[in-house]
Amino acid sequence: MRDEQHKNKSSSELTRRTFLDSSLLTIAGGAAMLMVGIKSAAAKVSQKSVNYQASPSGGKKCDTCALYQGNGKCAAVDGSVSPSGYCKLYAPK
Ligand code: SF4
Repeated sequence: MRDEQHKNKSSSELTRRTFLDSSLLTIAGGAAMLMVGIKSAAAKVSQKSVNYQASPSGGKKCDTCALYQGNGKCAAVDGSVSPSGYCKLYAPK
């Protein structure tokens, strides 16, 4: 009788353990998918696709754009941009 109780307990612990292991794997898989999603969301567009030019347009320039990060970097456009540059994503600060 006692042996059987022990067997049943071990079996239920094994089932619970298996469930927890598979749940953790599912959570880890979801986190990995989320990281991939975040990385692709951070991808920048090419300068050509947004008609980037190295000169201002009607007083609009990277230096006064909300997406300009300084040091020739833009949050949305790939590559180095000039503070005097401009593209069609321009958004005033
Ligand atoms: S104008 Fe275009 S390239 Fe310049 S900072 Fe803004 S989004 Fe980036």
